[in-house]
Amino acid sequence: MLDNNFLKVALAIKDIKKSEMVLPIAKINAITTPFLLGDHQALKTAMMSPQNYDKELIKCLYKHSQFFDENGVEIKKKTDDNREVKLSFDDIQSRISNIDKIFLVWSCYNSTYGTLGIREIECEQCKKKNKYKITLEELIRPDTMTLWDRETPFNETVDTIACSYGDEYEYVFECYIPTIKKYNQVLGFISIDKIRENLESNTVLSESEDLAVQIKTIIIKKKGEEIARSSNIQEVLTVLESAIPTKVTEEFKKKYTDLYQKFIPKFYTLLKCDECEHENKYFVDIETEFFRRILFGGEFVE
Ligand SMILES: [Zn+2]
Repeated sequence: MLDNNFLKVALAIKDIKKSEMVLPIAKINAITTPFLLGDHQALKTAMMSPQNYDKELIKCLYKHSQFFDENGVEIKKKTDDNREVKLSFDDIQSRISNIDKIFLVWSCYNSTYGTLGIREIECEQCKKKNKYKITLEELIRPDTMTLWDRETPFNETVDTIACSYGDEYEYVFECYIPTIKKYNQVLGFISIDKIRENLESNTVLSESEDLAVQIKTIIIKKKGEEIARSSNIQEVLTVLESAIPTKVTEEFKKKYTDLYQKFIPKFYTLLKCDECEHENKYFVDIETEFFRRILFGGEFVE
């Protein structure tokens, strides 16, 4: 039938513009295909609530991705009756980290649009405004990604950070790089009103919510003896918000940064000024860029 052929041809063409990317924390490779009109519509609708947006985004990323191991073999799992099947949406959420998600967004952005569009950027030296067409490819620099470098996979690794308080007390935090699943679980405990309030100060998560994503368990010790412990997300959130001294959370944040900062991706390009030839370093937040692109569509000029 002609209609069937037409669909087949259309489907074959849409897969041509594939993009490949390494997910550095999960240490798997992903090949993605471009987003389609239906995905854009689903994401636009979901934007009414950041929590839904995040879920919808991950669903779209999953739909357009295939995952491969280091030898280029597609990662599959065995069912109870010994069949090999594609990793499910749920598998992916517990196998990749929030950092890997940013690289998947890059890959989908790259296969969907290829460029950020034209930007007018002021030279930091001579203040001349130049126009540049920035491609997604050029945002990948030698130091953009840092591969997970431990023996155990990131989703089985837990670090311990201890912060003492006064002469008697000690707070022990079991922490990690969160999986996408953990991130979504924490989002699920925050009311839409609270997220709206956060967004007014330009972030999806407040500081304490951000910490709750990174922390698995909080243990409180007195003179070396454990007196309380919780791994319950809701409890951890409440305690972080209202019961832990700022001095302790500040110390935790500093130590957490020391452990994991190197894995935070750096997407940037060097833009040479027409006038004075100075090279300007231009950083890009891929997730925010993608969010705006979905919202406004087309070539976006800053
Ligand atoms: Zn200049």
